Amino acid sequence: MNSYKHILLAVDFFDQQTLVAERAKDLAERYGAKLSAIHVVDTLPIADPANDVLVPFEMDLSQEFIALGRKKLADLASTLAIPEAQTWLETGSPKQEIIRIAEENAVDLIVVGSHGRHGLALLLGSTANGVLHHASCDVLAVRLHKP
Ligand code: AMP
Repeated sequence: MNSYKHILLAVDFFDQQTLVAERAKDLAERYGAKLSAIHVVDTLPIADPANDVLVPFEMDLSQEFIALGRKKLADLASTLAIPEAQTWLETGSPKQEIIRIAEENAVDLIVVGSHGRHGLALLLGSTANGVLHHASCDVLAVRLHKP
């Protein structure tokens, strides 16, 4: 069996994301694989997935969320020793962007948490499920226990 060569960690920065990050890092070390990370700032107007903030429709806070997401992603990359060129801060649908970046960069394993969203954001649907069903590579969902 071929080993994984490029692992993509998808992070939403909710609690327990450290578990997901540590699992991805561990797998990358075991397989001698390249590790990359992605965070997607959801452009749907009602929620910021990283902060579970509900935003009125008339407000556009996307620039603030992008700056915040970029900072959190840079901090995580520094903790995990991921080079900046292997980090992606994207906007749009998390599921679509994770799959697109994986396909464009020959990723052979995507690591996500089993859940992330809280409250009303749950109505937006499960990113983990979407990635699992639509990605063309393997997907590992790290089991997270709801507090
Ligand atoms: P969810 O299915 O939305 O509860 O989220 C499950 C997992 O998908 C999270 O633990 C993350 O690994 C990933 N994920 C969710 N939203 C995002 C996002 N905006 N950017 C990157 N990864 C995400």
